[in-house]
Amino acid sequence: MKITIPSQLSDIELVDTMKSFAGRERQATAHLVAHLAEFDRRRLYLGAGFSSLFMYCVRVLQLSEPEAYNRIEAARVARRLPVILDKLAEGSLSMTTVRLLASHLTVDNHEELLAAASGKSKREVDELLARHFPQPDVASSVRKLPAPRPMASPVAVATSAVTPGSPLPSPPPLGLAMAPPTAPPRPAVVKPLAPERYEVRFTAGAETCEKLRLAQDMLRHAVPTGDTAEIIDRALTVLLEELAKRKFAKTDRPRASRGTALGSRDVAAKVRRAVWIRDLGTCAYVAKDGRRCNTRAFVEFHHLDPYGVGGEATVETIELRCRAHNNYEAELFYGRPQPTRSGTSALEPPIAAADGP
Ligand SMILES: [Zn+2]
Repeated sequence: MKITIPSQLSDIELVDTMKSFAGRERQATAHLVAHLAEFDRRRLYLGAGFSSLFMYCVRVLQLSEPEAYNRIEAARVARRLPVILDKLAEGSLSMTTVRLLASHLTVDNHEELLAAASGKSKREVDELLARHFPQPDVASSVRKLPAPRPMASPVAVATSAVTPGSPLPSPPPLGLAMAPPTAPPRPAVVKPLAPERYEVRFTAGAETCEKLRLAQDMLRHAVPTGDTAEIIDRALTVLLEELAKRKFAKTDRPRASRGTALGSRDVAAKVRRAVWIRDLGTCAYVAKDGRRCNTRAFVEFHHLDPYGVGGEATVETIELRCRAHNNYEAELFYGRPQPTRSGTSALEPPIAAADGP
């Protein structure tokens, strides 16, 4: 639909139609919040390959992050106190006011608080909350600010993944370029160039470059071109294995079973290391449309064969899952836990996922 600026309208028509659109926007928002409340209750975002409703709102519903946050907060309050929906639709409460009030509203106080906050600005609502729920003073603190970085003859290392169209000047044989000592340190850059090809650029010290040269020399038999990308990949592979070894230290004596805890059954350290590296430390849940979750925060080991029917923990039967998807798949198998008295599941996730793909 093509939208144009309504310059042909009279002043009265302009004001009337504008007010009408504002009202329809409020109504649409209230309906959206109501639908989000039910979508959230059914947790349909999990099956769609998202670890949180927040990520779903941003990626699929195309809400901005603050819009998604406010609407989800409002949806969760509206499940407890549906009167909020009418107030959003009629415009006596703004989305911001609902967010500010959300954590304070109870069945007992909501009538009084909602009436007091009706038609108020954000600052007035802040003052209202300060009167009703006074907070202790903030403790004084002194914080050291970071000193400016010294510029000791930085050396730029350019790892060029592709040459066609690359903005980099053609590198010397070893892929190293001495930057003039006066050049300011440039921030590291990882920039996608083409599907699966990235330009990686960073500044490194002379010692790092010497290490790179040495690695190139010592790997001449395996990597005759001394390709920097190949050397870095090998270095990172070794580093990740080393880090995984530390993260999942070998245990001689496996821990006792922890009952029904999800994803925490004993998995051999060797298996955990291999799975961690294969799944690159991210949730490997894949939705029907092929979308991989890729959430990095709080990943757990997930048994593809549910433990209860004799699943065995091998690299083939274990995958990484974010907490939301681990619980989701366990619930698909074992059934969903009963909601708590407040009507929310005990497993209700925080609104904003710590990170995402
Ligand atoms: Zn996930």
